Amino acid sequence: MNQAERIGGLLSESAFEVLGKAKALEAQGRDIVHLEIGQPDFSTPAHICEAATEAIAQGYTGYSLTLGLPELREAIATHISATRKIDVGGDRIIVTPGAKPLLFFGILAVVNPGDEVIYPDPGFPTYRSVIQFAQGRPIPLPLVEEREFSFRVEDLEGLISDKTKLLILNSPHNPTGGFLPLADLEAIANLALKHNFYILADEIYSRLLYDFPHHSLLSLPGMDDRTLLVDGFSKTYSMTGWRLGYGVIPQHLISALELLMLNSNSCTCTFIQKAGIAALQGSQDSVQEMVKAFQHRREILVAGLNQIPGIHCLTPPGAFYVFPNIKELPLNSQGLADYLLNQAGVALLPGTAFGDYGEGYLRLSYATSLEQLQRAVERIGEAVAALE
Ligand code: PLP
Repeated sequence: MNQAERIGGLLSESAFEVLGKAKALEAQGRDIVHLEIGQPDFSTPAHICEAATEAIAQGYTGYSLTLGLPELREAIATHISATRKIDVGGDRIIVTPGAKPLLFFGILAVVNPGDEVIYPDPGFPTYRSVIQFAQGRPIPLPLVEEREFSFRVEDLEGLISDKTKLLILNSPHNPTGGFLPLADLEAIANLALKHNFYILADEIYSRLLYDFPHHSLLSLPGMDDRTLLVDGFSKTYSMTGWRLGYGVIPQHLISALELLMLNSNSCTCTFIQKAGIAALQGSQDSVQEMVKAFQHRREILVAGLNQIPGIHCLTPPGAFYVFPNIKELPLNSQGLADYLLNQAGVALLPGTAFGDYGEGYLRLSYATSLEQLQRAVERIGEAVAALE
């Protein structure tokens, strides 16, 4: 007996694999600094936790409607209308268990076998994985350090063909922390109109942009019925384990996504949806504090890494990752990541965990304490010096 062929297209996610290896070393008594996983180290704000327990006490423990609780969909629509400066109704919102299912459903809903899908490389591994699962043709769009881990719009245009069905964008970006300025978004929107393709805009880090305002493709003229906007609560409210995300979907695709959701999850956990309303409508102070803390950690980590000979690190404008260049060192990305885990006790990811164009880079998450970051820099510095 064999598993289905389509499973062969699915890729794993290195962050979880490296976490497993790091935990195994810890079980042997090793001290490990964890910079591999992309999750805030802050607790979920108390008022959000209280809203969940209150909702349980009030009996929000049954199924909700598949697309989500109407009051949460309305709250999300209000939030999106305010932050993206557009007018979106609750009927365009779908609530899902985390943002990730929306990447899965969104790609499955629009990609036919043989369709081409352009996606960022380096980029979140789920994109390529699900494109392959949907039997689409993955077309990597290289992000280059010279453009602060963005791409030239001409390079994107060169990848578009009459088979292009979908472009995936992620701004602010995992793993590089880069972002797309408004002028690039406008040029991309023109290409989408000219060549008639959908755009999946993964904006899960939209609230974690430190030096610039966030602009959304959805705000631009003509993008309303071709943009699938993905956002959620995991990163902004430190709610990764709660599993709560959402999408703003073109009206004509809502029933396709509803069917995919109905046939997999039925709905998102009902009392967690109530907590989502508290997150959006309650105090945003904790978000601001977290953003401030991340910004400070970013400065410390970037400065520390740049003092290590052979490592060069840009200051990324968003998310909570840095993506230092290690091309001057005598090991490749995977070799260096393994060496740093085994020799120095620092768990981080090779750039190649995010695609071939990640060779020559590492990804470090700074969603951990300053103390841990300082220890990581010291350990990396010593281990790298021992390589020469
Ligand atoms: N998109 C990107 C770019 C991410 O980095 C992540 C999580 O790491 C997700 C989506 C998934 O978010 P969630 O935990 O809400 O499923």
